Amino acid sequence: MRVGVPKEIKVQEHRVGLTPMAVREYVANGHEVLVQTGAGLGIGADDAAYVTAGARIASTADEVFAGTEMIVKVKEPQPAEWKMLRRGQILFTYLHLAPDPEQAHGLLESGCTAVAYETVTDERGGLPLLAPMSEVAGRLAIEAAAFSLRKPAGGKGLLLGGVPGVTPARVVVIGGGVVGTHAARMAAGLGAEVTILDRSIPRLRQLDELFQGRARTRFSSVANVEDEVLQADVVIGAVLIPGASAPKVVSRAMLSRMKPRSVLVDVAIDQGGCFETSRPTTHDAPTYEVDNIIHYCVANMPGAVPATSSHALNHATLPFGLALAAKGEKAMVDDAHLRNGLNIHRGRITCAPVAKALNMPA
Ligand code: NAD
Repeated sequence: MRVGVPKEIKVQEHRVGLTPMAVREYVANGHEVLVQTGAGLGIGADDAAYVTAGARIASTADEVFAGTEMIVKVKEPQPAEWKMLRRGQILFTYLHLAPDPEQAHGLLESGCTAVAYETVTDERGGLPLLAPMSEVAGRLAIEAAAFSLRKPAGGKGLLLGGVPGVTPARVVVIGGGVVGTHAARMAAGLGAEVTILDRSIPRLRQLDELFQGRARTRFSSVANVEDEVLQADVVIGAVLIPGASAPKVVSRAMLSRMKPRSVLVDVAIDQGGCFETSRPTTHDAPTYEVDNIIHYCVANMPGAVPATSSHALNHATLPFGLALAAKGEKAMVDDAHLRNGLNIHRGRITCAPVAKALNMPA
């Protein structure tokens, strides 16, 4: 199949749909890859790296869309891109259609077959193409918190891990899934005192096994959350209830009782945030303060490290992308997990939760 990789055009997006590593795999499997010039510059991969991997370089996005049967991207297509997609062409990317009726209409009109990374599943009920970004965000959350604790950044002047004779910072992670586990690992690795709260007992058991005493686990009741938050220097919000807005686990009333200039990192901000006082921020202005508590609520945290994020994403998307390239739409007949990624098929919405959210027929 001819596979196309356009340069991402969404503001502040530096990731790329296929890295040179992935291009080489596609080419080794007999496919042709057409990459728009400069598509990989944000991750330090120039056109020469793509040519070495076996790609051809196109000078415009138009050429990429017109000359290929499948487009592999990172971000949802922008209006200029809807118009370049055509009937039967496969689009493989993050879509996040539920809150975006305009995009849904654009894709329906194009007649393309849109497969969304975020709804592809695996045999354990997980979301394998979302997990790598949660890993990145979880780890970054601790870097962001450590930075925000520093005096020059306006923080309380605390080193996360302390030093011999000086106690470390207390890090409380609410939600022990992918984000929470990776945040806790980073914090524990830096020597912080870590507590993870979750409402799932099986998950708490797994975390207890995993951390072997390097992090405490606690059931996430209202009382336990309050008890932990009031003693914390850093709180990481990492809860998720699939398909729902994040529950508000830290209220505004708690802030004035917290230790002054503590840091709240709300990773769940992309689902509305799990602290009452959270509102989305950007990498340009990532923090703000409420009641003397520093809030970090960047909605696209992995965007800060596009190289790591693109490589991690490509490792996860590669087997699905190769199956689509080999079999076209039939790949989704053969693989129920990939089929779960199908959001739009030739003018129809094919994902029930998306149809429900948009109030459209499925
Ligand atoms: P996950 O499903 O792996 O983990 C969520 C965990 O939250 C589960 O273990 C669940 O039991 C727990 N939970 C649910 N309700 C809870 C409660 N009231 N108290 C404590 N725990 C509770 O999800 P994930 O992949 O770790 O993602 C977490 C959030 O981070 C999601 O909203 C995701 O969209 C978001 N995220 C944001 C960014 C970003 O850039 N801001 C990047 C990646 C992921």
